[in-house]
Amino acid sequence: MNRPLAPGDTLGIIGGGQLGRMLSQAASRLGFNVVILDPEENSPACRVSQGQIVAAYDNPTALRVMAGACQAVTFEFENVPARSIEILTEAGTVVAPGPRALAVAQDRVDEKTFLNSLGVPTTAFAAIDNLSALRAAVASLGAPALLKTRREGYDGKGQVWIKDAAGAARAWAAIGSQPAILEAKAEFVRELSVICARGRDGSIAIYPLGENTHAGGVLKTTVAPAKVTSQTKSQATRIARKILEGLDYVGVMGVELFEMRGGRLLVNEIAPRVHNSGHWTQDGCVCDQFEQHVRAVAGWPLGPTAAHAQVEMTNLLGNEIKGWKALAADPAVRMHVYGKREAKPGRKMAHVNRMKPLRRGPGRKN
Ligand code: AMP
Repeated sequence: MNRPLAPGDTLGIIGGGQLGRMLSQAASRLGFNVVILDPEENSPACRVSQGQIVAAYDNPTALRVMAGACQAVTFEFENVPARSIEILTEAGTVVAPGPRALAVAQDRVDEKTFLNSLGVPTTAFAAIDNLSALRAAVASLGAPALLKTRREGYDGKGQVWIKDAAGAARAWAAIGSQPAILEAKAEFVRELSVICARGRDGSIAIYPLGENTHAGGVLKTTVAPAKVTSQTKSQATRIARKILEGLDYVGVMGVELFEMRGGRLLVNEIAPRVHNSGHWTQDGCVCDQFEQHVRAVAGWPLGPTAAHAQVEMTNLLGNEIKGWKALAADPAVRMHVYGKREAKPGRKMAHVNRMKPLRRGPGRKN
């Protein structure tokens, strides 16, 4: 089915967490019905949606039911099994972003190899299949270096720093002796990200850059639009375009960047979905990343990406959500609460966007 979705059509979302929830809210504003597939009953996304299918992400029966109910399907996380996408596609549903983007984003070695093949720079890396390969890679890339599992890692999980050659065996054991990537340490000045989108017709939309700070491998804040030079901005735009076009991508993508001394940008990783560092767009842009993703997947024209405010987005993890009363009383703060029942340590419970006037005039670099 290649026609654009119309209000009244149904969008399926694989994954019922906060990203699925905010996608669902944006989709319902455009008049779509939303069905969520998630193994957990009562997920944050299903509570704002019209339908839920409670089943594993690779349950063929559930996927066929989803295909029957939905005119298009998307997902909120990149580790959707490839077979699930095949089942949906065979059943005649549009799935976006497509299987190529998922495959590339699911494997850190394939991801960096693909990026380098497009001429997009990353930190130096080596594929690691055993301890002797790791020792050789530490010798060639130098230490410190970061050992990451090839698959399944996120928010700093499955990652161990190797400080010297003697630490290789311990690090290999710590990640469970599984296929991995060793990355040279990127001596970055700061971390930036660019949220970008490509429509079914190949049109591209790119948001202003965000500047990110992490704590314990987890995103803590994004300040956007980040103060960057016009060269940095055009580098990020070139990188985003190359990746979107190289994957024949449809949807919103998050591209995490390291800004090196001298201004060169390296790509850390790509997320083939809406991204935590794009949450500022909900209050900083007319068309936020969630609506943008729904528009792209539905085959609608992409929306505007210019910022109308300066925003500082802060994630509220675990018990930080208990500070909600003070935040609710602050007129500069917009709250986005995910409706999760239990505030486990480190769990993303909400985020807040603190609003500031947009920097203008000669001092404004973005
Ligand atoms: P990731 O899960 O790959 O996004 O990594 C989480 C965080 O670890 C990044 O946002 C960086 O702060 C840091 N990090 C990841 N890879 C590298 C690297 N090669 N060099 C330096 N820092 C890194």
